Amino acid sequence: MTGALSVAGLVRPEVSPELARRVATELFGVAGPVRELGSQQDRNFLLQDASGRYVLKVANPAFADDELNAQDAALAHLARQAPALQVPRSRPALDGALMARFTGPEGPLRARLLSFLPGFPLAEQDHLAPVVVAGLGNLAGAVAAQLADLRAAGLDRMLQWDVRHARSVCELLAPFVTDAARRQRLLAAASRACDGLDARAADLLVRPVHHDVTDDNVVCVRGADGRAVPTGVIDFGDVALGWVVGDLAATCASVLHHDPDRPLAVIPAVRAYARQVPLSEPDVDALWPAVVARAAVLVVSGVHQGVVDPGNGYALAAQEREWQMFAAAAAMPAEVATAALRAALGMPDRIWSAGLTRPDAPPLLALADLSDVAVLDLSVTSEDLLDGAWLSPSAEADLAADALRDAGTVVTRYGEARLTRTRLDSRQAPASIALGVEVFCPDGTLVRAPFDGSVGVEADRTVVLHGADVDLLLVGVAVSPRPDSTVQAGELLGQVGQQGRVFVQLCTGRGLRPPPFARPDEAPGWRSVCPDPTGLLQLAVEVATTDLATAAEVLTQRRRAFADVQEHYYDQPVRIERGWRHHLVDTSARTYLDAVNNVAGVGHAHPRIARAAARQWSLLNTNSRFNYSILADFSGRLATLLPAPLDTVFLVNSGSEAVDLALRLAQTWTGRESVYCLAEGYHGWTSASDAISTSVADNPAALSTRPDWVHPLPAPNPFRGRFRGPGAGAAYTAAARELLDGSAAAGHPPAAFICEAVYGNAGGIPLPDGYLTEVYAATRAAGGLCIADEVQVGYGRLGSSFWGFEQQGVVPDVVTVAKAMGNGHPLGAVITRRDIADAFASNGYFFSSSGGSPVSCAVGMAVLDVLEQEGLQANAAELGAHLRTRFEQLAEQVPLIGAVHGLGLYLGVELVRDRTTFEPATEETAAICERLLELGVVLQPTGDRLNVLKIKPPLCLTRSSADFFVDRVAEVLRRGW
Ligand code: PMP
Repeated sequence: MTGALSVAGLVRPEVSPELARRVATELFGVAGPVRELGSQQDRNFLLQDASGRYVLKVANPAFADDELNAQDAALAHLARQAPALQVPRSRPALDGALMARFTGPEGPLRARLLSFLPGFPLAEQDHLAPVVVAGLGNLAGAVAAQLADLRAAGLDRMLQWDVRHARSVCELLAPFVTDAARRQRLLAAASRACDGLDARAADLLVRPVHHDVTDDNVVCVRGADGRAVPTGVIDFGDVALGWVVGDLAATCASVLHHDPDRPLAVIPAVRAYARQVPLSEPDVDALWPAVVARAAVLVVSGVHQGVVDPGNGYALAAQEREWQMFAAAAAMPAEVATAALRAALGMPDRIWSAGLTRPDAPPLLALADLSDVAVLDLSVTSEDLLDGAWLSPSAEADLAADALRDAGTVVTRYGEARLTRTRLDSRQAPASIALGVEVFCPDGTLVRAPFDGSVGVEADRTVVLHGADVDLLLVGVAVSPRPDSTVQAGELLGQVGQQGRVFVQLCTGRGLRPPPFARPDEAPGWRSVCPDPTGLLQLAVEVATTDLATAAEVLTQRRRAFADVQEHYYDQPVRIERGWRHHLVDTSARTYLDAVNNVAGVGHAHPRIARAAARQWSLLNTNSRFNYSILADFSGRLATLLPAPLDTVFLVNSGSEAVDLALRLAQTWTGRESVYCLAEGYHGWTSASDAISTSVADNPAALSTRPDWVHPLPAPNPFRGRFRGPGAGAAYTAAARELLDGSAAAGHPPAAFICEAVYGNAGGIPLPDGYLTEVYAATRAAGGLCIADEVQVGYGRLGSSFWGFEQQGVVPDVVTVAKAMGNGHPLGAVITRRDIADAFASNGYFFSSSGGSPVSCAVGMAVLDVLEQEGLQANAAELGAHLRTRFEQLAEQVPLIGAVHGLGLYLGVELVRDRTTFEPATEETAAICERLLELGVVLQPTGDRLNVLKIKPPLCLTRSSADFFVDRVAEVLRRGW
């Protein structure tokens, strides 16, 4: 073995940039400007000449020649074996040797010259997306796989970064940690971790490893979506024989400080590494202890380095980050992390079942009747938690109290994702998964030991029965035996306390105090440490939670029968099974702010709408050929929402149908076919509504496949359309007028002109001032009708007006409505003049089987009631203005935001790579939306370039949710995605 574990510390050798420049010129023949780079123990200089950029590395004299030679051998080995792998290449000195010797102010030194890898260090990236973490693990794995057969003297080194020495390094250097609390925490955690490593040491794979493929030593390029793509590995200074898990632990530890609250964010790196270097069971068992040990070594070495080399800014700057890594690693119990890693690597769960199966063990609770038991449904799909009841802090107790009226005992389910444990507007998934069961039963019910053990009582009054290989934890029990006494199975432990509510949990982790609930990402780990305690109750009823199909399973099933062309949001969607107001909830009880659902205008699962639909369903649902009052009431009410002379209503089932019918009304009334619409618009999927939809985002061939009766007018987009800037509005108006004025002469006079008053599909861009006044006048002068498509923007969303056309001070001849009108129930309408409607009779009659059905009308009425009574249009005005202001402020700090469009709760934040060329940030927008989902926000791209964040939440949005929303977007734009 080479070298010795040094506690004297390694001060960087004294080398001035001037000396470095001389060495580079005279010994390596590279003459050019020199800049010093950071290093813990060596001196590194960046230099450049016509042949390229290099790093001159002056080694610490403490390292032996053999150790440096081993690094060069590793680089040469990789260059030979894996030329595609980006690692530095050695450039020999003028005398042909890889190492050049010279004398510094303190004595003899050795320098080597390596090619400089372009890119930026991964450490510069604040947030690391899972795909980036996987990229890091992949690189680390690739290097490790290639180094396996490296043979060189000097690999068998005494290296402080080799986790096999972590215990001695920590013990030697911990005294330099001056904060006593930190020091003790560190020593305790390191000692536990090293115990775990020692126990498996004999079985761990040892071979040549890099030991330092970390965020600091991985260089990246920017991917098209703006994320870092790890491409190269530098700094082979720690190449040595060591544990493969030590190598992987170094990589994992460097991920931790990027998101200290989510230590398991390392999993993609582990998976990617394991694809290249298969990990054995002992390797996986040792990994988390190795991560803790590595992080502890980083902390003590960093602090120590600061003491021996106080001028080393590089080492000092890293200290807080290193503590964060350690704290994150140590906070996650090794048992839990290991179980999570095993699950992630597809290794079988280690199910613990001893103790529960003892045939003579009595039931934990002396319940009067083991079959008189009700099971609470607290899951996301529970029908016992309607109308937002789950938001009450007493929801669980209330539900249990209800159930106790019919049953002697009420129990909850182990492993259930409890809706009652979710948190609204939270950037982090909630601790929702039950790691135990709760029992609601009469107070005073006797509690008996289900197995032999000693009894303890924790400071928070949790009673613990320490068994041979498992602890039983009970909250809500008054203990009988003296603490620390031992009990036999069947002996009295205590009795149920006054609340009549006991939380029962098992834990196989020695000394571990598990939380009662775990976050979904950590639940697989915790569940294997906290096995299901339900069996202890020996109930005569089935209690087990049936795990719901995963999001991926549902997607697979969907693909089997549902046409793929009906796309879904996100590559890897979550499984959403509940909505409430402007929130959506997935099956892990993670709540998302719904920023895209303009269909649910008055909010999800509105009790009033649900009741109106249910009531009408149970009375009558038939069709408009029958005579029932709600049809007359609803049609009349709709007509009153529109200005004269729009007084006649058709009821259909969707926006597409409404648009289709509107076009046919105009074509019949005028006896013409031609329809003028706006380029980049979307109006529906039926043959006619699709024909006038020219958005290439919805149909890439839209422009080349128009039937000849469709005439798109230039998209009046002053931000990035044909005309831009102050005179753009007038130019668009003039261009539209010209086409309409010349339409008769060109042989296609208009039957109709149709558009949205706020350009929805393009990202919520309002039309230029006066645009509709002029274009409507030109259409009418040419004998056509004017259709306003209010499917997206109407019904109060714009805040300052109920209808979009009111923004332009015009009155259309025909209006189409849908979406928000039914709050998700299929409901659409066309509202027009009596004479236009009557003219349609020449086509025969009009009938839509469920258009205007009693249920649809009841829903439509309830939606209007809610809109009015909850003041939702005013809310749209107020919160829309607030959101707009906040996004405009954000745009001042974030160059990616090119423009903020829209009004009310119909906004578009347009993302551009360059504010002068307006190059759309399409890939970035998709990646940003993916990251926002992780942070609890559902948001999607829109526009022909899919570079606009489309913001159209339910109108019941609250101010705090609006702020949460902008805060999350700001976080992603600032910290990266
Ligand atoms: N018109 C506009 C402006 C729309 O945005 C849409 C739907 N996105 C439609 C019509 C078609 O409505 P539906 O999906 O209800 O058929």
